Amino acid sequence: MGAEKVILVTGGTGLVGKAVEYVSKEESQPGERWVFVGSKDADLLSLESTKALFEREKPTHVLHLAAQVGGLFANMKLKVEFWRNNIIMQDNIFQACKDFKVEKLVSCLSTCVFPDKTTYPIDETMIHNGPPHSSNEGYAYAKRMVDMQNRLYKEQYGCNFTAVIPTNIFGPHDNYDLEDSHVIPGLIHKCYLAQQKGEPFTIMGSGKPLRQFIYSRDLARLMIWTLRSYPEADPIILSVDEADEVTIGDVAMAIVDAMNFTGAVEFDTSKADGQYKKTASNAKLRKYLPDFKFTPFKEAMRESVQWFVDNYSSGNVRGVKL
Ligand code: NAP
Ligand code: GDP
Repeated sequence: MGAEKVILVTGGTGLVGKAVEYVSKEESQPGERWVFVGSKDADLLSLESTKALFEREKPTHVLHLAAQVGGLFANMKLKVEFWRNNIIMQDNIFQACKDFKVEKLVSCLSTCVFPDKTTYPIDETMIHNGPPHSSNEGYAYAKRMVDMQNRLYKEQYGCNFTAVIPTNIFGPHDNYDLEDSHVIPGLIHKCYLAQQKGEPFTIMGSGKPLRQFIYSRDLARLMIWTLRSYPEADPIILSVDEADEVTIGDVAMAIVDAMNFTGAVEFDTSKADGQYKKTASNAKLRKYLPDFKFTPFKEAMRESVQWFVDNYSSGNVRGVKL
């Protein structure tokens, strides 16, 4: 048998990290050891603490998920923190992966990083073709640098580093903060409270923007495939098909159905809509995995809402203040 593969997952306590943990148990392979870490295990803003983590775990493979992450409204308010914290964390991870001779590093971009003014569908070659939407430019520019770092480390040091580009993600263990979260966890929490209090369920903006959403457990399967089998240094978009794009209004209705909410539904058009659409092509993914089956949106939504309802009172749900 070959040497043990040690797969270090940063951001292991987050939405995607928890999904990777769940799927890695189902799909584990002999000779692999998975290590999931959060900020209490190592503060990745510190190079010293990052190196101490690598010294301790001796990873052969790294899935770098840790990041400062948030929805439209958090991105609009904290552009400096989204820029700095992401740039610093990824710089420390890249440096440590090079120094500790990690065999493969997979980092995360996002479809939010693409240019605002673009043609559709967006593909992997378009990352640097123009400024991102101004609402999330701190996050977008920091994440775009991942693509540049992958190329520089490969060219100068021969490193095997790559990145995935997921669309908007949802699932169990999300951040349900009422102001700073992404739209699905924010609306699940708001619909739950509206149901409890007998109040209207209010959606921010017009409900017209279009998004592709990916269930965290589907994404986790694709990330594990990327880590094990994706051969390119160039990034790959991990998205549902273009035909599965939905409006924010559709999302709200799927939550209403999953929650059996019977009250009034309102749209607060005084709030921002953000980018109208970011339709991404998954042609590259389909070239590699033509038969991959995504969980149907409504089924994934039902599982996500059920997880929130079951865990609401546990005291361990991010963004829920009891
Ligand atoms: P998340 O749920 O907010 O989790 C963030 C993770 O980062 C947590 O595990 C957190 O640890 C860790 N972290 C934050 N600051 C840290 C620090 N200073 N040191 C060490 N760890 C730190 O994020 P996510 O939604 O799972 O996102 C995972 C990746 O996917 C990110 O790279 C994100 O940019 C990307 N992505 C997300 C979405 C989305 O819709 N959510 C869409 C596209 C791409 P603690 O909780 O222990 O503090
Ligand atoms: P994005 O996909 O990167 O833009 O980020 P979000 O997940 O924050 O989605 C933003 C879209 O959802 C915008 O069109 C918002 O107007 C809309 N939206 C509606 N209600 C909410 C909410 O409660 N929270 C968030 N974050 N967005 C909301």
